[in-house]
Amino acid sequence: MTLPFPLAEPDGPAEIEAGRKLFAGQTEFVKGVVAIDGLPDDDRAEVCFAGRSNVGKSSLINALTGHKGLARAANTPGRTQEINFFSLADRYLVDLPGYGYANAPLPVVEKWQRLLKAYLAGRVNLRRAFVLIDARHGVKPVDEEIMSLLNSSAVTFQVVLTKADKNKASQTEQVLTQVRKALGKHPAAFPELVLTSANKGTGIDTLRAIIAGLS
Ligand code: GDP
Repeated sequence: MTLPFPLAEPDGPAEIEAGRKLFAGQTEFVKGVVAIDGLPDDDRAEVCFAGRSNVGKSSLINALTGHKGLARAANTPGRTQEINFFSLADRYLVDLPGYGYANAPLPVVEKWQRLLKAYLAGRVNLRRAFVLIDARHGVKPVDEEIMSLLNSSAVTFQVVLTKADKNKASQTEQVLTQVRKALGKHPAAFPELVLTSANKGTGIDTLRAIIAGLS
């Protein structure tokens, strides 16, 4: 019997090569968007990355693009509430603001929630959202919120576990069980997970290949 939400199989050489090729291209910061009318034209395929602050989102984007400091540069104070667009060949990679800032003022939180909702509901060229989950902690209530938002916006999302190198194998198995259970409630969840470590490079080829396949 196949487990629900198995780990994505390492793709065949052709898919891995397509991913490598795509990400060998230049990644450039396009713009940080603070209001819905600032979104770039939806004339190309895009994928977005969402996750709690500190989940390892900048590190993962930097590992994917091989561009140290790219996502972090866009993440300087004042930019953290922006939707950051990067161009890569004929697509956009979109870095959504990290959520779960415990001490962010309510009006700020409400403003970006509105922006996020408008983005997710209206972006016809958005092929998939990657929801990053810390492999040590599993799905937290704030992650459930974003997943519910993705469900109600009918955006397919795929869970990417981060910082896998910090776990013992048994701990990863426990967290995977928790994540699989949580995802069972979300019809928009793509039925495969990706286990990654930006530090060790684990899963990066697989994730590149997945993104390359979403044209
Ligand atoms: P962001 O707030 O989601 O953009 O998170 P960052 O990418 O800034 O990472 C948060 C912290 O986790 C930093 O101290 C990173 O060095 C650390 N980190 C990120 N990815 C990994 C990883 O794959 N392995 C380990 N061990 N630490 C990581």
